[in-house]
Amino acid sequence: TSASAGPTNGLSTLSGAAAATTEQKADRMQLVDEEQRFNDDQFAPKLRDWGLEDAGFGYDLCAVLGSQSTGKSTLLNKLFGTSFDVMDEKQRRQTTKGIWMCRGLKMNVLVMDVEGTDGRERGEDQDFERKSALFSMASAEVLIVNMWEHQVGLYQGANMGLLKTVFEVNLGLFQAGKAKSHGAKDKTLLLFVIRDHVGTTPLENLQATIVSDLNKIWDSLSKPDGLEASQISDFFDFMFTALPHKVLLPAEFDKAVNRLRTRFVDPKDPNFVFRTEYHKRIPADGLPHYLSSIWEQVMTNKDLDLPTQQELLAQFRCDEIANAAFATFAGEIKAFRRHVESGTVLETLGADMALHRGTALAKFDKDAGRYHQEVYRRKRTDLLEKLNASLSPFFLGQLKNLHKHVLAAFKSNVLERMRNESNYDFGEVVGSEKERAQAKFSAAAKLVLLADTDWTVSEEEAQLEEEIQSIADTMRVEETKKMVAQIERNVKKGLAEPVELALNKPSETMWDAVLETFRAVLQQAESTYLRKAKSFNCTDDENTAALIALRRKSWISLRAKVDEQTADTVLAAKLRNTFEDRFRYDENGVPRVWKPEDDIDGAYQKARDETLAMIPLYSKIEPRDDSLAVSLPSTSDDPASQAAVDRGEEEEFDFPSTLVVFSEARKAEIGTRFRKEADALYVEAKRSTVSSIAQ
Ligand code: GDP
Ligand code: MG
Repeated sequence: TSASAGPTNGLSTLSGAAAATTEQKADRMQLVDEEQRFNDDQFAPKLRDWGLEDAGFGYDLCAVLGSQSTGKSTLLNKLFGTSFDVMDEKQRRQTTKGIWMCRGLKMNVLVMDVEGTDGRERGEDQDFERKSALFSMASAEVLIVNMWEHQVGLYQGANMGLLKTVFEVNLGLFQAGKAKSHGAKDKTLLLFVIRDHVGTTPLENLQATIVSDLNKIWDSLSKPDGLEASQISDFFDFMFTALPHKVLLPAEFDKAVNRLRTRFVDPKDPNFVFRTEYHKRIPADGLPHYLSSIWEQVMTNKDLDLPTQQELLAQFRCDEIANAAFATFAGEIKAFRRHVESGTVLETLGADMALHRGTALAKFDKDAGRYHQEVYRRKRTDLLEKLNASLSPFFLGQLKNLHKHVLAAFKSNVLERMRNESNYDFGEVVGSEKERAQAKFSAAAKLVLLADTDWTVSEEEAQLEEEIQSIADTMRVEETKKMVAQIERNVKKGLAEPVELALNKPSETMWDAVLETFRAVLQQAESTYLRKAKSFNCTDDENTAALIALRRKSWISLRAKVDEQTADTVLAAKLRNTFEDRFRYDENGVPRVWKPEDDIDGAYQKARDETLAMIPLYSKIEPRDDSLAVSLPSTSDDPASQAAVDRGEEEEFDFPSTLVVFSEARKAEIGTRFRKEADALYVEAKRSTVSSIAQ
């Protein structure tokens, strides 16, 4: 860094480095105060300051035990670069009581130092000593047991009393734990540090003395049920070391402490103390809650059941972690609401939902995955359900919007194709568009259908199909109507000329010609209808009804044509023509020029009577050939039709009455009128002979 910092003089660099070293010394904090209250407020922030909050299992915890003023704090500060209070040599003033914690310098180690009154030596109550020992045991991987060399072998001395407390406490601590699945691997390492080691007695001898004392203590303990046969080595591993006199041999002391430090920092050291099996498996972020609840248990003198504590911690922390992950997630997905509520289909919604859910779960997995596995898995399921429940409205909203869009597109696509394709097949258009719409819906729905949910789209798919079908049905009815109207127009056109022609000249077989035309035109119309109806997927009932309507309408068309052709003036013209053909033209169609000797009266009467005889032919539609006779059902023949007529929904149709073109009275009227016209022609003929004579 000095290279990039630019030119600096050596002196300032040196002093800067020295200052940094002092500053880097981590602040200690009072974890438990003189009143034996746990410092809930400051521990978590402190852990963050120390940079250990996110360390997971990547940290170690050690604590120290031993009589007052045996140089414990001095040793810890030297070993770990901590800043614990050391009793002032000159003033002999007391250090602040309680449990202190500090982060080791440049190591992920949390160190606990206990400052108490030396109750045992002063005859005071050993309450705090017992509590802090229990607390240390429940959290630390390594307990440094600090004693003067001259204390070794003093079986009745303060140290052994403390160790007895430690063992008792430990048995209580693991009583419940042993009963559960936690195996013998939950061991704690006791590192004995013998201070002011003079050297005349070798360490091995001191060690042997301590071990034999430990065994004596262990044997004297009354063990809880199920642990009667347990060995001290089931719970503890032991390590021993000695340090020279700090005041008399300061250089030797420092060297020995430096050597000792490698046991704490170098995993390759054969005497490395922080072996994985000693770790209490409390993730760093869970320490504040865990230690606080352990202290509470200790204070209320409850049985300290570590596995249960770990499970409780897991529940607490998993909830906290899940809530934090969920809060972030909830903020991220807020934006979806606006989109979904505005009715748009978000192309990326599925991917985005999966992403945010995945991020939340990953966050949860990363932090919560270190806790009690069963609890972690249960809480993960809870979180997943909660995440899914929050996303579900978006999923449903998107499906709803998708449904609307697809349905609208289906409708407009069908209409557009019918508009643009001149010779479309309605059934094919609807069928292919329906397929396209459904495929589009399913594909888009699949994109928002997240895995690990109980979501389905089949219901929505079924509903869509139903609605498409209903739209298609409505369109088909419209189309059918349009088609039928077209057919009817064709019928009308087809009938017009032939009927006019047939009725122009009255004859015995004129209705045969009319009905023959009608039959042909209707047949054509029916086959056109059936051909088109096939692609419309019309039902048989619809076809039957449509055909009945078609025949009826065609017949009404025919009747209209007949009415037109038999209207007063039209019919009168026809009769006059017929009469004139007979009266004014000879058999060869040559116009007659009347001469006086001609039988004008006879010719007139013949032509008139023949023409009059034609009038009844027009009055009723009646073919010569019976096979040409038409018969259509009347509305009164069918109760359903009759009911529709009664409701005013259908026009009454009485077929027999339609066969009558005009009544007897009108027949007479037409006759009278014709006679008058014929008479006029007769008079005119007569006059023409007169005038020819006069010339
Ligand atoms: P603690 O109460 O066990 O934490 O002890 P302190 O670290 O506060 O030290 C108590 C006194 O013992 C202080 O005056 C230290 O200077 C002194 N001391 C520290 N280390 C040693 C040591 O190794 N040998 C001796 N003889 N005195 C020490
Ligand atoms: Mg101290």
